[in-house]
This record gives sequence, structure tokens and C-alpha cells, in this order.
Amino acid sequence: MSGTVHLQREGAVGVLVIDNPPVNAGSSDIRKALLTCIAEVEADAGLTAGVLIGAGKTFIAGSDLREFDLPLAPPQLPAVIAAIEGSAKPWVAALQGAALGGGYELALGCDARIAAPGTVVGLPECGLGIIPGAGGTQKLPRLVGKAAAIALITSGRRVGAEDALKLGMVDALASGDLRAEAAALALSLVGRKAGVIERDPPAEDEATIEAAARKAAASGRSRPHILSAIRHIRAVGSVPAGEGLAAEREDFQDLRISAEAKALRHIFFAEREAARGAAPAGVTAGPFASFGILGAGTMGAGIALACLQRGFATTVVDTDPAAIERARTRIEDEISKSTAAGRLTAAEADAARANLTLGSDMALLAGSDVIVEAVIEDLAVKQQVFAAIDKVARPDALLATNTSYLDVDAIASAVADPGRFIGLHFFSPANIMKLLEVVGGARSTPEAIATGLAVARALGKQPVQAGNAFGFIGNRIYAAYRAACEFMLEDGALPQEVDSALTGFGFAMGPFAVADLSGLDIAWRMRQQQAASRDPAARYVHIPDRLCEAGRLGRKTGAGYYSYDAAGKPQPDPAVEAIILAASAEKGTPRRSLAAEEIQRRALAAIVNEAALVVQQGVALRPGDVDVVMVNGYGFPRWTGGPLHWAGTQDQAHLAADCAAFVAAAGAGRELADLAAILTS
Ligand code: NAD
Repeated sequence: MSGTVHLQREGAVGVLVIDNPPVNAGSSDIRKALLTCIAEVEADAGLTAGVLIGAGKTFIAGSDLREFDLPLAPPQLPAVIAAIEGSAKPWVAALQGAALGGGYELALGCDARIAAPGTVVGLPECGLGIIPGAGGTQKLPRLVGKAAAIALITSGRRVGAEDALKLGMVDALASGDLRAEAAALALSLVGRKAGVIERDPPAEDEATIEAAARKAAASGRSRPHILSAIRHIRAVGSVPAGEGLAAEREDFQDLRISAEAKALRHIFFAEREAARGAAPAGVTAGPFASFGILGAGTMGAGIALACLQRGFATTVVDTDPAAIERARTRIEDEISKSTAAGRLTAAEADAARANLTLGSDMALLAGSDVIVEAVIEDLAVKQQVFAAIDKVARPDALLATNTSYLDVDAIASAVADPGRFIGLHFFSPANIMKLLEVVGGARSTPEAIATGLAVARALGKQPVQAGNAFGFIGNRIYAAYRAACEFMLEDGALPQEVDSALTGFGFAMGPFAVADLSGLDIAWRMRQQQAASRDPAARYVHIPDRLCEAGRLGRKTGAGYYSYDAAGKPQPDPAVEAIILAASAEKGTPRRSLAAEEIQRRALAAIVNEAALVVQQGVALRPGDVDVVMVNGYGFPRWTGGPLHWAGTQDQAHLAADCAAFVAAAGAGRELADLAAILTS
């Protein structure tokens, strides 16, 4: 039994209390109970109006997504909404907490909506590869207009009560007792029933609608559900209401069982699971209220912003006064920008400013609950700063390094108690990127890891627990991917061909455009450091070294794999082609052209093989964690569900052969994963 509905009488109003803890998710039991109670109100001559309200703190926060993999059990939501719309009595939705997805569609089936302050409403279905399928696309435009409905539905934006009132998504805000005010509103509508579906959408300029549609298609990468939502919204008013509803429902049903929607549901559940980490029983996170950050560079300033935006007291220490001033300016600029954009209120911005301390004295970190180190990527420097931190930090403070590649245990050896030491691997820009790898060292206690995960959640990040291995989860997989793409340059492809094949697959950017953006020099320095220990049998592509030697360090020098015009637009460069052709000739590799499909297969095989190895070796806890990392940190297309989910949908024999081909092409130093074992684990 998943939930029930209680019919309570408030004078002449039948109040239906939807009760399915913890968030009153829509389920077949709830729908059945709603139909029964609606019929009861309808048949009761003593009741003249109805109210829908949630038990506890929320209305219906969404649907039970586990139902979506199976044929939907009757009665379905449109039947419940039709009963409300067909009722002779007016119905009011009393909203609190969250009214999302099917919950908000149920509210749209009522004659009016009243919300308690703090309520969020919205139709987030597009984030799951489907469209609202119970009238959302047909009714929201009648309240807010088509252009606004396109933006709201395709982005899945959750709208706060005040904004929802301004937009017309709700009709009133409750000032006191929501249930009583909803009942009064319902009584005031007796004899004036006015279903949303019967209203005309507000008059709007066709050009405005067209512009909203174009913008939504572009930001939704023209995925099928985005285009479907736009189509259904645009049809409102030009087809009979019943036809519009039926067409919407048909597309919803098709999309619901599509591979893409299944992949998006996978990543949705994988993100929730990843955020819990290993979660051993009986382990609890320690408390934290303040952050200390050592290093005020690109990452340190970004991490400070992430902490300040969440209201934490934050102290940033750097030995370089110029770095401190740069960080101060960047943090102030970002706070002002966030305030102007409405992401921070004026009071929150003032609190963030008051919460920030910047300075050069390590002793400033003495009071911090969590200390994150973000100095340069050099083991000796990191060990030295942690020895100093250890002297000033509180004995119960959590100590964390933001290293990208270094051995967390080697850094931890600089402190007296490595049990309280972990890696917190933020991504750049740290105030924006959601992914945060929480790295457990050999001696990190389960409590320290649990605190790291809690820190990530408190900063609004997506945590993923990782083991201490070179590159952790993401950078390690990305390195294999980059290697495969470099092999293809030597074998006959050009950077623009590789990039365009991979953006064609769905990556946000191609690997060579990414390399130019982050700068080629960091990897160059790392290759120089590793030169002595490199296996001579391993295939080594010299092209990136040659680019660096030619001063082509990426966008920052105006040239890398591409050259950049004044507007920053990348252009294929004959000089790069010459370097690539010479590199192939030097190795005696005959060049042949590579079709986009082959480029995709080879790049994906490298990713999948390394992803499976990461799980096989226990660096990631579960295949879904790897998917979460690649989707949230590396531009892997979310609608594929991430590399290992995608791998499970492919022809296994071909994929295994492609993985083996990658390992063979690498010459030495790469291992073939037992993909079949990982995909069935
Ligand atoms: P950065 O060069 O921008 O900043 C490093 C800062 O550390 C500088 O301001 C420097 O003055 C300061 N510093 C150096 N020695 C110090 C000392 N002894 N005490 C106090 N401050 C000192 O570097 P970054 O890009 O911010 O990277 C910092 C760390 O984060 C590195 O370990 C890097 O690998 C890691 N990281 C970087 C990225 C990225 O994309 N930039 C992403 C994830 C992790």
C-alpha cells in the first residue's frame, strides 16, 4: 500500500488530505483513493466545494518514478483530473512545500490554486526525458502564456510562491491558515467553476513565442522530449482542448518508455545513491559551520565562493598578497553578479561579505571546522603546508586537499592524525560546477569521509566517493579518453574532426577544444615529470608536446589545437595540421581518414574500459557513481545515462572488441577491463 487520502469535512467543504509520506508522491493507490473521495464529495449534497491538500509539510512533490518503468497502473492521473474538472463543484488546490510534476498538474486541474509562502511549484518532467503528460503543456500556457510556458516546462524550473503568483501559476498566497483560506476560496467559487482547460491563452506576439521556442530548443539540445513539449505548448488554442490533451498523453507514454528517459531515470537514482557514499552503518558526519581555505588562486577563490554562497564563515589564506587581492576582487564581483541576477538576496550578499576573512597568516585557520588546501599541485609544497596547518588547526577539524592527481596518503603523512584527512576534489569553476569527488585515503576514518560527503551536500554539490588512485575517478577516465583521441590524430584524424564527432555524440565540447580552454601546459609539465618512469613500450603521442614547444598553450596564448580570432572563435589551423602530419610521418604511421562513427566508437571504448576498471579496482563504489562523475564533471551527455549505463545498451561483442582494440593500440600500460562482470554487477 503506497499512500491514502482522507476525506475530512470543514462545513460545506470536503477536504481531501493526500497522505503518502515522506513527500506524498503520486502513486496508483493515491490516484485510486482520490477518485473514490472525489466521487464521495460529488455525491454528498451537504458539500458544495472541495479542497486538495497534502498531509505533513508538502503537497505532492512528484510522482513515484519507479512506476515509470512498468505499464502505468490504473487509474492514471488524467482520469483523476477529469473527475475534478467534470465535478459540478469547484475545487481548490492548497499548496505547501512542493507541488511538482504530477502534483502541480493535479493543481492545474482545480479551479484555483492557493500557496503557502515558501512553496515551490513547477513541471520538472523534461529533466527526466519526458513531458508533463497530464495536461501540463495544455494548461500552463493558458495561465502564463506560451512563451513563458515553453521556458518553464523545457527548463523544468522550480518557481517560488511569490514568483508563481506574479506569473499566474497560483492565484493567491495564504497569509495564515492555508487549509482554512483554501476552504474559503473554494466556497467563494461555488456557482463560478472555471477550469483552466476552458480558458484561452493570453494574447501574445508570435515572434515572442518563436524566440522562446528557439531558445528552449537550443538549450535543450533539441532532444525529442524538448521538441515535443514545445510542439504541444504551441498547439494550445489551435486544436480542440480534448485533442491537445490526448496528443500530449500519447507522446508522454511513448517518451516514458524511451531509452533516453530510462537513461535519465538511471542518472537521477544514481545521483541520489552516490550522494550517500558508502554509508557504513552507525557512522555519522561531524558538525561544521566554518571553512578555512589555503590558497587563493583559481580553485581557492572558487571554493570560498561556494562556501560563502551557502552562508558559511570562510577564511582564505595565501602567501602571495597579489593573489589575495585578486581573490578579493573576484569574490566581490561574483557576489555582486549573483545579487544582480537574483541568486542572492541583498541580505545574503551582505552576510557573505561579512563572513569572508582574507589574509596571509596561517593562524587565521585556527578556528575553522573544515580546512581545504588549494595551493599549487606539488607534493612537497602540499606536505609542507599541511605540516604548518597541523600546528594551528583545531584537533577535531577536517583536513582536505583539493589535489587533482597527487597521492592523498602521501600528503596526509604530513599531519599527525591522517584519520581526519581526506581529498575534496572540486571542479573548476568551483562555485558553479556541481561535482565534488570525496576521496578517502588509506587511513581516513569513515567519519571523516561521511563529513566530507556532508560538506559536499551542504555546499549544494553532487558528491561522489572515490578511492585514492591516480586521477581518482574522473581525471583518470578522462586521461584514457584523451589518449584515445590523441592516437586518432596520429592515425589520420584532425582535431576539428575528432571534436565534431564527439560533440555529435552529445559531449558539451570536444576534447581538443577542452584542452585549449584549460591550457596545454599543465599536462605538459606532468608529462615531463613522468618522462623518466614512462614504459618505452607504451604508445606516446608527441603532438601536444610539439604544440607546447611552439608556444601554443591553448586559448590563453591565442593558439593551441586551434587558433583563435579576436572574437575567441576557434579556427582549424594549417600549422597544427603540419605538426600532426609530421608526427605521423615520424612514426611511420600511414594516415587514413576516420569517419565520425569510428571516432565515436574508439573514444567511447576508451572511456568505457577505464570506467569499468575504476569500478573493478574499487576506486568507485558502483557503476552508477562513474556515470554521475562523467555526466556532472566532464560533459558526457546526460541523456545517455553516463558511460557505463550507455555501455549496457550497446552490442556487447562490438564494444568488447573496441575496448580490446584500444588496449592493444596503447602498446603497453593499459589493462583490459572485465566489462561483462561490471555491467552485470
Ligand atoms: P593557482 O595557481 O591558481 O592557485 C594556487 C595558489 O596557491 C596561488 O594563489 C599561490 O599563491 C598559493 N600558494 C602557493 N604556495 C602557497 C603556500 N605555501 N601557502 C599559501 N598559499 C600558497 O592553482 P589552482 O588552479 O587554484 O589549483 C590549486 C589546486 O587545485 C592544485 O592542487 C590543482 O591541481 C587543484 N585543482 C585545480 C583545478 C583547476 O581546474 N584549476 C581543478 C581541480 C583541482
